[in-house]
Amino acid sequence: FAAIAFVQPDELQITLQTTFGYPDFRPLQREIIEASLAGRDVFALLPTGGGKSMCYQLPALHRTGLTVVVSPLIALMKDQVDQLQSAGVAATFLNSSLGERESRARLAGLHRGEWRLLYVAPERLMLDSWAENLRAWNVAALAIDEAHCISEWGHDFRPEYRQLAQLRELLPDIPVMALTATATERVRADIVKHLKLRDPQIHVASFNRPNLTYRVLPKDGPLAQIIAFVKKREDESGIVYCATRATAERVAESLSSRGYSARPYHAGLTNKERAENQELFLRDETKIICATIAFGMGINKPNVRWVIHYDLPKNIEGYYQETGRAGRDGLPGDCLLLFSGGDAAKQTHFIDEMTDEHERNVARTQLRLMLHYAENASCRRRELLGYFGETFPIDNCGACDNCLEPRETFDGTIAAQKFLSCVYRVRQASRFGVGLNHIVEVLTGADTDKIRRWGHDKVSTYGIGSEMTRPQWAAVGRELMRMGCLAQAEGEFPTLELTAEGVDLLRSRRPVMLTKPIALPKVKKIIPRQ
Ligand code: ADP
Ligand code: ZN
Repeated sequence: FAAIAFVQPDELQITLQTTFGYPDFRPLQREIIEASLAGRDVFALLPTGGGKSMCYQLPALHRTGLTVVVSPLIALMKDQVDQLQSAGVAATFLNSSLGERESRARLAGLHRGEWRLLYVAPERLMLDSWAENLRAWNVAALAIDEAHCISEWGHDFRPEYRQLAQLRELLPDIPVMALTATATERVRADIVKHLKLRDPQIHVASFNRPNLTYRVLPKDGPLAQIIAFVKKREDESGIVYCATRATAERVAESLSSRGYSARPYHAGLTNKERAENQELFLRDETKIICATIAFGMGINKPNVRWVIHYDLPKNIEGYYQETGRAGRDGLPGDCLLLFSGGDAAKQTHFIDEMTDEHERNVARTQLRLMLHYAENASCRRRELLGYFGETFPIDNCGACDNCLEPRETFDGTIAAQKFLSCVYRVRQASRFGVGLNHIVEVLTGADTDKIRRWGHDKVSTYGIGSEMTRPQWAAVGRELMRMGCLAQAEGEFPTLELTAEGVDLLRSRRPVMLTKPIALPKVKKIIPRQ
């Protein structure tokens, strides 16, 4: 069986030291490499910086034949290949950045069997002529980097990745390695399915980043909040992630005008400006980068000390990736998320407008989990790791706001009763379900078209919630969802339903404590009537 390479374990260590210059393997690297050399399909889930590249680079040197590496990150291929070549490894890449002549020269080299490693972008690989090429090149192994790109449930779906399954049919005998830094249970299943991995050995490293501290602050004058934050961190490098180019620009300008060294980074800049700002940041000549999420893919700057999210991220995976750019050197890093219920509402609105039903549902689920993270009173680390299917074993992580300064709670018995009975009444009064925002509007006695049209101003719970603001009621509703008292039925619009638990709480009138909503607005003063 051609795919199996017989290698003594010491030989791997020797290659690691002599070729790559590292004394020891990082966690799971050896296991992954050995499994692949033994001809197994492998699924490797290692956090960013965990050393995924080594997992396919090193075994490539112990095989006869070519190892093909599929990666979507064209910008990084050259760097990786340069590094490999300077270590004496015969590696090359093919992507759209090369001219015709250069491409042809490299293809000729492949036909002559000159390379051990070939990096290639997925869209290239699926061109017609490639089937023949791949058969001719004595391909010994296939590595799919950033494998989560194959899943719509990941944060970076790339349709071209779906076609990679055809490689399996084309090259049925070679081991396939799928690598990623982000994969929930769902994404993992998608990867295994779509890449047609055969009984893969699955290796999952811990995603815990013990040196990072996670905090969420109610967004309240975000510029001032950012300035207060950086003031205490004069010489440290950091990234402010913003949802839009305009915000990234504005934040960079405001910081610069106050004497901080800050630059923007987003798709609206020219390539030259982007490259320059990135370079300045990497060289520590600019301390702060104000960026959209376009920034950071594959950037390896070890001494980023903090990451601020100015806007609510769209999903937890993205958030984990972005915060993960802090503290790569193992020294402490601070992650701060500025959260506002208004941002959440904006995103909900945006999602409701999406035309593709599947995409809409994915986006909704992801936003719900993100909100859950932002508003939950329990350990942030536990929540993050839980999202990746990992159980954090300690109650108090000692490095998140909720563990360091437990959130305040209040007697939410009446609020919960009001909310749940409003759902119950409105549900009774209509033939269809309604969403969270509608319930909040009924509770606060809003005068809207829908409410009048559907007669919801006649239900007994109309306007009974004037003691709190709408964002506060929305937060109460979401907490009741987290407690399992309400469920969201996904349809064209997500609608709220009482669960058995919710019905029980409503009937029993049992006291409940709720978390002080992080959505800031102050409780409206009720002026007693004379
Ligand atoms: P990932 O793709 O998982 O984010 P990389 O493959 O880019 O990580 O590796 C991150 C860094 O760790 C690189 O600089 C790489 O050279 C280095 N590295 C990889 N394996 C080892 C090792 N066994 N010991 C020390 N450093 C390593
Ligand atoms: Zn914690």
